[in-house]
Amino acid sequence: MTTYSGACHCGQVRFEVDAEIDHVRSCDCSICHKRGALNYRVPKASLRLLTAWENLTLYQWGSRTAEDYFCSRCGILPFRRPGDPTAEELRQGVQPFDGWAINVRCLQGVDLDVIPVTRIYGRQI
Ligand SMILES: [Zn+2]
Repeated sequence: MTTYSGACHCGQVRFEVDAEIDHVRSCDCSICHKRGALNYRVPKASLRLLTAWENLTLYQWGSRTAEDYFCSRCGILPFRRPGDPTAEELRQGVQPFDGWAINVRCLQGVDLDVIPVTRIYGRQI
């Protein structure tokens, strides 16, 4: 397991995450599309915030089950809690996920040119 250091742009938000990043998720849902994030999902306990939660602002929208955290100073969104699957998604076999989606662009020492990108079609469901 590798421990990565992560931060927002200004450094007000710093964190560590334990992961073996063998792919990143590029999702076309309304928020992932606009922020251009490449995500990797980890269990809840794999993220350690090194700075105060108060430095983050929580943004919730739509079903309000997802939690999008962004730095209150520079606006970068380093991680989020994905929303609960809708009834339709559950019917389609989407598994509930109780963890963090890390914005891999915020991690040090990751070469995004060599990591396979998995397309997630969040907009369709
Ligand atoms: Zn910041």
